[in-house]
Amino acid sequence: MRMPTLFLSHGSPMQAIEPGIAGRAWQALGHELPRPAAIVIASAHWETSLPMLTGAEKPQTIHDFGGFPRTLYEIRYPAPGAPAVAARALALLKDAGITAGIDGSRGLDHGAWVPLRWMYPQADVPVVQVAVQPDRGTEHHLAVGRALAPLRDEGVLVIGSGHTTHNLREFFVDRRGGGDPAPYARAFADWVSTRLSSGDTDALLAYRSQAPEAVRAHPTDEHFLPLFIAYGAAGEHPRVETLVEGYEGSALALHSWKFD
Ligand code: ZN
Repeated sequence: MRMPTLFLSHGSPMQAIEPGIAGRAWQALGHELPRPAAIVIASAHWETSLPMLTGAEKPQTIHDFGGFPRTLYEIRYPAPGAPAVAARALALLKDAGITAGIDGSRGLDHGAWVPLRWMYPQADVPVVQVAVQPDRGTEHHLAVGRALAPLRDEGVLVIGSGHTTHNLREFFVDRRGGGDPAPYARAFADWVSTRLSSGDTDALLAYRSQAPEAVRAHPTDEHFLPLFIAYGAAGEHPRVETLVEGYEGSALALHSWKFD
């Protein structure tokens, strides 16, 4: 069975205990999607110079954030790893001419376990996490996604976990901002949504110069790059379905999409 791919805006770590619209959508997804044999999830919170995959049999839960309530640090997401899937992904990347590696000790960071905890609360689907390479831009991440596309026919759910807009400085200034999106965040998120729906890959790849307020929406682009892995893994001209359209505070667009 061919699995779709997903791009999820994972929200602040608080989404782990206060799900809001994104958490409810992830919960529904977990019920609706065919049950995956394994998950390969690219997280914005693992930055490396070469594509890396987790190879641990029992990946640790990483609490890669500070200043949040104690309950967040007590959460464990004990999903098994999938070393064979990591090896398969590594081989696919190599076939595509992409040098990559396996990290045998890295665990799952909150970019992975916050949404997965809602989708698969039993933590019974094996997970491999993939890193992003912020120095290598959009085309590289599209190529990584394209290389991983055959996994879809092997029952693997490929997910990119990042954010549709991610200006944390503005988020913290206006955290209680009543839910009205900042106009720049809305302009950027609407642009992305439209370009995805029309399959305008070239515009998406050049988003930093073509999209309105791109640099304000992503002062650094590590949270946007997982989109290209998910979109790339869906092959050319995927069908696009909006899963979430909304905002955390006024600055964090939670827009999320399914591709197949
Ligand atoms: Zn994040």
